[in-house]
Amino acid sequence: MQLESNAFPSRPAWIEIDLDQLRRNLQLIRRELPSGVQLLAVVKDEAYGHGAVDVARVALEEGAWGLGVSTLEEAMALRDAGIRAPLLLLGERQPEELPWCVAHNVTICINQPSTAIALAKVAARQNKCVPVHIKINTGMNRYGVRWDNAIELIEFIGSLKSLHLEGVLSHFAQSDEADKTFANLQTARFNQVLGTMAERGLRVQYRHMCNSGGFLDLPHAHFDMVRIGILMYGVFPSAVCRRIAGIQPVMSVKARIAGLQNLNPGDVVGYGMRYTARSHRRIAIVPLGYADGYPRIVNQGHVLIHAKRAPIVGGVTMDAFMVDVTDIPEVRLWDEVVVMGRQGAEQITVHDIARLKNSVSYDVLAGWRPRLPRKRLFTGLTPHQAQGATVLEGAHGTGQ
Ligand SMILES: *Cc1c(COP(=O)(O)O)cnc(C)c1O
Repeated sequence: MQLESNAFPSRPAWIEIDLDQLRRNLQLIRRELPSGVQLLAVVKDEAYGHGAVDVARVALEEGAWGLGVSTLEEAMALRDAGIRAPLLLLGERQPEELPWCVAHNVTICINQPSTAIALAKVAARQNKCVPVHIKINTGMNRYGVRWDNAIELIEFIGSLKSLHLEGVLSHFAQSDEADKTFANLQTARFNQVLGTMAERGLRVQYRHMCNSGGFLDLPHAHFDMVRIGILMYGVFPSAVCRRIAGIQPVMSVKARIAGLQNLNPGDVVGYGMRYTARSHRRIAIVPLGYADGYPRIVNQGHVLIHAKRAPIVGGVTMDAFMVDVTDIPEVRLWDEVVVMGRQGAEQITVHDIARLKNSVSYDVLAGWRPRLPRKRLFTGLTPHQAQGATVLEGAHGTGQ
């Protein structure tokens, strides 16, 4: 038996990515988009922890126009994987990144004149005319040129021979809450810019404003393209936004029970002795902790074992936490535990964990750490996936 240092068994805790469900989610999203409205699949941060290359391939097979990322490194990783689709880099670029963007056909957002000037020089030097998307700040006050003086920058870009204005975009500060007042104000400001552009004969192919929340709840803001992240991963951005039946989470987090302890009354559990048994209890050890991205909670939260809920006792440690399985007597060593996801009729949602973390679903998805191996599930429905394959395990260190 060869015991290669790169072919060892993976640890008994992992992330499962259901690429078939990702495909179904994309199909459901596409079905709701009027023809002519393009989909930009947002795959920043390793596709919210789902694996950027896998997600990008499925999204492009399902008709996405292009991919949104936020760092040059993310863009280069997709290019290195052979992905040739349009890439839109969100955020701002340092001047030294621009030659790589131009050389590898990575489209950037222009938020200010200095970036337009620098990019135009780089493009001219490489004998290229490159597409750009101009970002309009309609009230979020993160990136972008203010709506009330955007037209000068748009005209300026129009005057630069090595730049081609392909897109105009903005971003909602709040799109998934019941109150759409501010979203409507932002849309009106965006429309004001578009109106002035039309008056001055400034043409643009793609006008886009919506993230998942906007796609669901603000159909009058769909324009020519929507930028979808979290919804494609099967997670609704808020509790109140519109639902689409059939959209389900793509990611689950699982582990295997790595130990069992029998407690007598008065015994304690974990650092700081934060839990004391009042009666005879049976405790199972889940080998996953806050260093994997699980919240560092104490005596709250649950996991699923044998499709039943087992409460966490004591505090979550760096590499493990303990759950009470007294009421699930069939539990054995190495049984499967669902930390996030479904088991039988029970489910622990991304939002449940977000609540424990005092944060939002986005942070939970992005917060699982690379030391959790990522296993891809699919049934071989697609050209690039081997027929009949069921479970493939991502390489160790396939980082988020
Ligand atoms: C992350 C991001 C999105 C995607 O947002 P979701 O709510 O995940 O759909 C869209 N646009 C921009 C500018 C983003 O940064």
